[in-house]
Amino acid sequence: MNPRIEKIRQLLGELEAETAKTPQGDTGFSALELPDIIGEIVDDLQPILTAYDAAFYWFLFRHSIARDGNPQIRVSRSSLRRAVVKSSYTNAAENNISIGKVQDTLLALETIGAIQKLGEPNRQGTLYRVLIPDEIEACRRFRAERVAEESALFPLTNKSHHQRRMQVFERDGYKCQKCEKQLTRFTATTDYIKSPAEGGDDSAENLFTTCAECNSRSQAQASRE
Ligand SMILES: [Zn+2]
Repeated sequence: MNPRIEKIRQLLGELEAETAKTPQGDTGFSALELPDIIGEIVDDLQPILTAYDAAFYWFLFRHSIARDGNPQIRVSRSSLRRAVVKSSYTNAAENNISIGKVQDTLLALETIGAIQKLGEPNRQGTLYRVLIPDEIEACRRFRAERVAEESALFPLTNKSHHQRRMQVFERDGYKCQKCEKQLTRFTATTDYIKSPAEGGDDSAENLFTTCAECNSRSQAQASRE
C-alpha cells in the first residue's frame, strides 16, 4: 500500500470520527466519500462550468460539505466578492470582481443545478444548499454521454472493473433491480445474473445493480444452496 494513501485514509478516518460527534443535518456526507466526490466534481461538473463558476463552486463546497459534511452554507455577496478570486478584467491593485459578477456567477450555478437557494437573504447573506454531481441532472447527463462515448471507443472486454460497474449503474439508472430503491454510486453494488460458479462472466450483460441489503441477501441464499 502506498504510504501516502495510507496516511490520507488515516486522516479521513480521524476526520470522520470528529464529524460523527458534531450534529449534522439529514443530508450529511461521510468524510470517506470526499475523495470520490472531489473526483466527480473534476470529471463531471467542472467541464460544464466557466472558470468563475468553478471557482465559486469550489469555495462553497469547501465551506460546506468539505468542512463538516453539511451541504448548507450562508454567504453574502460582498464576502464572496473579496474571498473567492480576483477579477481577470482589470490590472488594478484592488481588483475585486464586481457585485454583478458575483450575482451572475451564483445565478449560473443555480441554473445548472449546482447550488440551490434555500430562502430569502438576511443580513448575514443568503442560505444555499451545495449539491454534489450525483444530485445534479446536468452532471449525470454529461457523465452518461462520456460513458457512452467510452463504450464506443473501447470494446467491453478492455474495460476496467470500475468502468464496467459504472456502465451497469448508468444502464440501471442507479436503481436496485430487486427492491427498486434509488441508489447513488456510493451505495450501489453489482450482482451476477449467472454466478461465476455457474459459468457466468464479468461482462456488463451479466451484471445488474442492487442495494447492499438485496446483494447480501442473495449471497446468503447462494451459500445455502
Ligand atoms: Zn434492494
